[in-house]
Amino acid sequence: MKPFIIPVFIPIYGCPNKCIYCDQNISIGQQSLPTPNDVASIVDEHLKTASFHSKPRRYTQVAFYGGTFTGLSFNTQGNYLKTIAPYLKNKKVQSIRLSTRPDYINQQNLNLLKSFSVKTIELGVQSMDDEVLKLSQRGYTSQKVEESARLIKENGLELGIQLMPGLPGDTENKIIKTSEQICKIKPDFLRIYPTVVIKNTLLQKLYLKGEYTTLSLKQAISICKKMLLLFQYNHIPVIRIGIQPTKTLLKPGAIVAGPFHPAFRELVLSSILYDRLFVSIKKNLTLKTFTFFVHPSELSTFMGNKKENVKKLKKDFPGFDIQFRQDEGVQCGKFELSNSLG
Ligand code: SF4
Repeated sequence: MKPFIIPVFIPIYGCPNKCIYCDQNISIGQQSLPTPNDVASIVDEHLKTASFHSKPRRYTQVAFYGGTFTGLSFNTQGNYLKTIAPYLKNKKVQSIRLSTRPDYINQQNLNLLKSFSVKTIELGVQSMDDEVLKLSQRGYTSQKVEESARLIKENGLELGIQLMPGLPGDTENKIIKTSEQICKIKPDFLRIYPTVVIKNTLLQKLYLKGEYTTLSLKQAISICKKMLLLFQYNHIPVIRIGIQPTKTLLKPGAIVAGPFHPAFRELVLSSILYDRLFVSIKKNLTLKTFTFFVHPSELSTFMGNKKENVKKLKKDFPGFDIQFRQDEGVQCGKFELSNSLG
């Protein structure tokens, strides 16, 4: 059941240092710390415009994103959470989620969060490789990730993990190893943000000096595809792949380099579907005509961005007639093949 999320951004406050890839002012387009009154206004505004009343199964969650929530003073955390308490009481909001760092999780702070009905904690883990973490100046090791994840779960809270493939020192091998370690932790959900170089960051300096190379878009799609398949196999939902294309990030020059694409998840999914279509045709090479029936909501994903999958299939199987048709009766994620000897 997907929650209706009311996002509240806490840019970089509470962070012990600025990580080399991070500029929250650009990523989320906000510089100042909201006051508790600001938070109440944000919640009221979202509740006014929410269409969730027509979808009774959806629940509403206030999400404190950005920065390091548990790095804020107890007083500040408490003031924010107190602001949400009346909405929880009158059932306009059902729960709270927040994002933080693995090294800012301890029992005392979890007690505070639980007393205010926080349900979900998202940890910006980024990598489980200690060298990558060090080069990215994250300030903790993979052991700390394991400890904090365990503590969050022992306290009965939902655990989300964010990963950033392609940080300095990263390799495909390390990314897959990271993903395998994350599977063992068994988070409730994941987000994958392939690393991009944002203006005014230390990563930009390294990139301009030639000391850091980004993943290409093609490499990032291929790696994220492997990660997604591994997580799907382990029944861990991946709720986001690719950074959120905010207005400030989309401004010219905000992203200096890296595998950014506004529809990155779609590219990864299309690539997975391409492989499945390829295998299906390969198994039936004696046939001439292939018509794939897919759910209407997935037609463009099957055909690929700018019909890339169609073009590639036609190139890989010259002389074959390959068509796609919409069919409401086909289950999402599946396709049905109608073929003939032509
Ligand atoms: S902890 Fe997160 S928000 Fe804070 S500087 Fe690092 S990446 Fe940015």
